[in-house]
Amino acid sequence: MPRHLSTLSDLACLIPATTITGNPQTHFRGFAIDSRTLKPGELFVAIASDSDDGHRYVPDAFSKGATAALIHHLQFSGAQELIAAGKPLLQVPNTLQALTGMARAWRCQWSFPVVAVTGSAGKTTLCSMLSRFSPATAATLGNFNNYIGLPLSILSAPQDALLGVFELGMNGFGEIDTLGSLLQPQVGVITNIGSAHMGLLGGRQGIMEAKLELLPHCDTLVVDGDNTELVHQAAAATHLVTAGSAPECTVRLQHQEATDTGTLLQVEFDGSSQGSHKFLVPFAEAFLIKNALLALATGHTLGLPRRKMEDALQKASLPRWRWEQHHIGSHRYIFDCYNSNPDSLQAALQQLSRLPGPHIAVVGEMLELGEFSEIEHRNAAAFLQFCQHVFTYGTQAQWISEELGNQATHCHSIDQIAAELADCQSATVLVKGSRGNRLERLLDVL
Ligand code: ATP
Ligand code: MG
Repeated sequence: MPRHLSTLSDLACLIPATTITGNPQTHFRGFAIDSRTLKPGELFVAIASDSDDGHRYVPDAFSKGATAALIHHLQFSGAQELIAAGKPLLQVPNTLQALTGMARAWRCQWSFPVVAVTGSAGKTTLCSMLSRFSPATAATLGNFNNYIGLPLSILSAPQDALLGVFELGMNGFGEIDTLGSLLQPQVGVITNIGSAHMGLLGGRQGIMEAKLELLPHCDTLVVDGDNTELVHQAAAATHLVTAGSAPECTVRLQHQEATDTGTLLQVEFDGSSQGSHKFLVPFAEAFLIKNALLALATGHTLGLPRRKMEDALQKASLPRWRWEQHHIGSHRYIFDCYNSNPDSLQAALQQLSRLPGPHIAVVGEMLELGEFSEIEHRNAAAFLQFCQHVFTYGTQAQWISEELGNQATHCHSIDQIAAELADCQSATVLVKGSRGNRLERLLDVL
């Protein structure tokens, strides 16, 4: 078996039903499911959904430089021309099922430990910390964390990595169960339970139950030990490891101290039996410190030496648009605009309030809240009271403006936000909104 899956025949080895048109030795470098973002050399996977059929974009994928395509039918415009031109097509009965089957087969060949991270917020951030625990980590590609993304991430991983760290996302019941059974992690981590996707899960209890679907798929479950409700419900785990400040936590923060370069954490492992250890982390934000404790609990479960974890956390860096700081004009900006939900907004605002003022918040929408959307947007106004001014953006964020009255301005464009900010006195500005708002566009305008 090859170290990486890089030819069509490598893929065909994983599921015997596969038939190939074109040269089986065709090489590819990575996978794409969207022809608009495909990079030359990638293999295009045509996925059919209820709303669209990815096969329609196979010709476009080849024109963008795809070296091959995985398909399950040839009833798309341009198919015969591609065959006549000898374009490499790997045909299977169903691309999504094939993808999952190939990922399952590839995963079974790994001998390194695998960690699965789920939770309402902080999955990518924690994964990026955990990735530093090993010089060769197999990891989630970008934010590819669902039933299509996880198989693609698994198939992109080398077989001889030393550690696997994968993010599991979800929108409803049954999804974590499906992803967990595919990934079969040794260690599962639940970062937190928030209100993201509350609309589909009918409240916080539903969200907790959905995340706990990970439980039967891992040997050890790591959770936030300060969330008593979660700890209580996860107690059924064969092996539960908790991280936080509460006295009974397996990995417990005893003391923290701000330094010039970040925060020094004094952490105790397994009560006092193994003594405590100091870790320097290059940040001060409470939610990042929480993620660092979860990372330590995961490393502890994997039996990593403290020294190794210390080095890794010291060098931790955050993925794009998570607490990204810029000084532009007279303002200090914090772009935390990869995504937003009630919990991550509250965490970010709490952190903003600890920084030097005056404070300004540019707040976009919190999407995917379903029937709870209006109430959650209106509730968010309470956490924005300390700001000198708030600019809102996006239809649903208008509810926040309504609650705040004169303290807020609803903006209809990114240019308008930039113009409004230019008129404000020097301030610390938090920019936060869901992915759909793409508030990072403000950076280009500024
Ligand atoms: P997605 O579901 O969009 O993939 P994610 O779970 O991967 O999100 P991240 O991208 O890591 O989350 O972080 C998004 C934001 O969530 C951060 O910028 C921060 O504001 C907030 N956040 C990160 N960690 C935590 C945490 N432990 N508790 C609360 N909020 C957090
Ligand atoms: Mg993520």
